[in-house]
Amino acid sequence: MMSQTNQYDMQNPLEQYPKPDFPKQPQPVPGLAGEMDPLPDHGETSYKGFGRLKGRKALVTGADSGIGRAAVIAFAREGADIVLNYLPEEDADADEVVKLVEAEGRKAIKIPGDLKSEAFCQELVRKAHEQLGGLDLLVNVAGRQTSQQDIADITTEQFDETFKTNVYALFWICKAAVPLMPEGSTIINTSSIQAYQPSETLLDYAPTKSAIVAFSKALSKQVLPKGIRVNVVAPGPFWTPLQVSGGQTQGKIEVFGSEVPMKRPGQPAECAPMYVFLATQESSYITGEVFGVTGGNTLP
Ligand code: NAD
Ligand code: MG
Repeated sequence: MMSQTNQYDMQNPLEQYPKPDFPKQPQPVPGLAGEMDPLPDHGETSYKGFGRLKGRKALVTGADSGIGRAAVIAFAREGADIVLNYLPEEDADADEVVKLVEAEGRKAIKIPGDLKSEAFCQELVRKAHEQLGGLDLLVNVAGRQTSQQDIADITTEQFDETFKTNVYALFWICKAAVPLMPEGSTIINTSSIQAYQPSETLLDYAPTKSAIVAFSKALSKQVLPKGIRVNVVAPGPFWTPLQVSGGQTQGKIEVFGSEVPMKRPGQPAECAPMYVFLATQESSYITGEVFGVTGGNTLP
């Protein structure tokens, strides 16, 4: 059952969404949101837009599911047109998002493909710019996470794929996008609590999330003279396919979220308003910052 609640009525956040225990539910990478139990809440029935991104042209990676999907739904309801990137095997999830965006009368353009390829990242940005008729909101959400108990179990291939997906792709996409972005544009990158409190099982993933913080702070200084702002969202545990498809062991999925003060995972819908805020002109004096959405497990 979908765990959707009203995001606007005052209520106890501890009781707002499902808490552990959760059923074991292994999925192959990259996983599908549509097969999770309980289904995640991406704001499908709840997010209300106020036209804060009217006419904006957004490229969102990882747009089919999880935090990216929640951001896309919110952006569309705020009036943006969106290019969605994801992996081809996630087309079923992506189609659900496209329907929701089109229901708002906004453009949803699917450009699936593997961000581990520099050539594809360049093509993605070029096509997004062309098909949207511009590009002024870049939101990098795609990521890969594979839990391993021992350093001996992490192959060079895994290490390489994690860095390619989480760090190199970010560099390639930003490099291609910055020259195309007008004054007032915003870039939002996605780090993690893992940048500050790395788990012993995420020896390759956690440092990619630290790299995203440093990269984004450096980029924010470099592009500010062009009138472009860059900020970072650092989520805590969120109920998404990334986690059930090998991001955690199935044993940890059963108790997922119990380690944070809120004693439950976040639902993607709870992260979307932060992306909206950082995208809009409302955040005009904010750049180079990292914002935790962590269920009380605060950033340093
Ligand atoms: P998710 O599985 O819904 O999203 C990750 C997406 O990354 C996938 O949907 C997929 O489209 C994309 N992706 C992965 N490899 C790709 C590749 N090679 N090419 C193109 N796309 C690729 O899970 P999510 O949790 O919403 O993850 C979104 C972001 O949030 C990730 O960067 C993740 O590191 C970060 N994050 C998640 C959590 C959490 O607990 N779920 C916590 C902190 C940070
Ligand atoms: Mg997905």
